[in-house]
Amino acid sequence: MTHLLIGSNNAHKAEEMRAIIEAQSLATILMPTSVQNFPTDIPETGATLEENAYIKTVAIFHATGRTCIADDTGLEVDALGGAPGVHTARYAGESATYAENRAKMLAELAGIAPEQRTACFRTVICYHDDLRVAFAEGVCEGRIATEERGEAGFGYDSIFIPEGFERTFAEMSAEEKHRISHRGQALKHFAEILRSYHDEAVENTLS
Ligand code: IMP
Repeated sequence: MTHLLIGSNNAHKAEEMRAIIEAQSLATILMPTSVQNFPTDIPETGATLEENAYIKTVAIFHATGRTCIADDTGLEVDALGGAPGVHTARYAGESATYAENRAKMLAELAGIAPEQRTACFRTVICYHDDLRVAFAEGVCEGRIATEERGEAGFGYDSIFIPEGFERTFAEMSAEEKHRISHRGQALKHFAEILRSYHDEAVENTLS
C-alpha cells in the first residue's frame, strides 16, 4: 500500500484526514511528527485555495521526499460576497484565534436573517508524488448559525450548520461530520484518484 504523508501542521485537520483515509484502507498514513524535515512554517501566499494547497504540497514533498497531500480550506459566506474564502484562517487578523474568527463572523452577520446566512466550506486537496501532482475538491453547503453551539471539532464548526441539518458541525460526532464535510467529500474524490494510480501500477506490472 502507498505510504502517504499527511501534510498539515494543524493537528485537527491532520487527524481528520488520517481518520477518513484509514477508514477507506487507501494508504498507510504517515503523520508530520513521524518524518524528518517536515517544514513548520509554509507561507500561504496563494490567491486561491488551489494555489495554497499546491504551495504546501510542493514545499513538503521537496523537504521530506515523501508522497504527500495537503489541503487548503475556505469558508465562503454569500452575505459577505464569498468572504473570507482564502483568508478564512486569518479573518480576524494575522494571528487570530479560532474564537476571534468566529466572533468576527457572528458580528458581521448580526441582524441578517437565517435564510440569508447561506455559506459553504470548500476544501482543495493537492497530491504530490515523484511523478504526478493532482487535485481534488469537496464542498459542503450550509449556513452560519446565529450563535455558537456545540463543543466538538475546531475552527468555525460551532457556527456552521450543514444543509439538511439543524445541528452545527460541533454538535456532531466525528464520523457524522466526515460523511458530509468538505474535507470528507474532497478525500472521497481523492480516493478515486489514488485507486486509479493503484490500478495503473498493477496493469504496468502485469504487462
Ligand atoms: P487552512 O488554511 O486550510 O488551514 O484552513 C483555514 C481555516 O478554515 C482554519 O484555520 C479553520 O479556521 C477553518 N477550517 C478549516 N477546516 C474547517 C472545518 O472542517 N471546520 C471548521 N473550520 C475549518
